[in-house]
Amino acid sequence: MKANNQMRIAFLSRSANEGFARIAVAAFAAQLDPTVEEIIELKTAVSEAVTNSIVHGYADTIGTITITGRLYENGKLILTIKDRGKGIEDVKQAMEPLFTTGNAEERSGMGFTIMETFMDKVRVTSKPGSGTTVTFTKYINSKE
Ligand code: ATP
Ligand code: MG
Repeated sequence: MKANNQMRIAFLSRSANEGFARIAVAAFAAQLDPTVEEIIELKTAVSEAVTNSIVHGYADTIGTITITGRLYENGKLILTIKDRGKGIEDVKQAMEPLFTTGNAEERSGMGFTIMETFMDKVRVTSKPGSGTTVTFTKYINSKE
């Protein structure tokens, strides 16, 4: 299906850009007239994915994070957050609640669980050494 509208942004994996990414996605989604709650959900999920690319994907290096947004009929929004970082060995395990390879004092292992709570669908594709792409599907203002 062809998108009615789409956008693409790319930025360096600096934590200063986390806020930029949240706001850029919210601004793109604004044309769907989302509720305040839906905006918060989108921003939170995008933050989690971008933070993962910065902290885990690129870790001590700096690379590019690309976000795409596509809008379809019925308020269907598809977002992808992509990095070319170190990738994930076992995606199923990584998505389990409380699983983290990070520092226990800073990371709780709840990022993917939060994304799944706020988005209608979360898909993760990853290849060790090549990077990770997280795809969100969210229906904005769906009446069902
Ligand atoms: P929290 O998000 O609660 O601070 P966390 O980031 O460890 O902790 P998740 O966001 O659920 O928890 O991610 C789980 C694990 O998946 C991470 O610890 C990391 O090993 C791996 N991971 C997630 N995203 C990426 C990514 N973009 N690149 C490489 N590894 C990732
Ligand atoms: Mg995380």
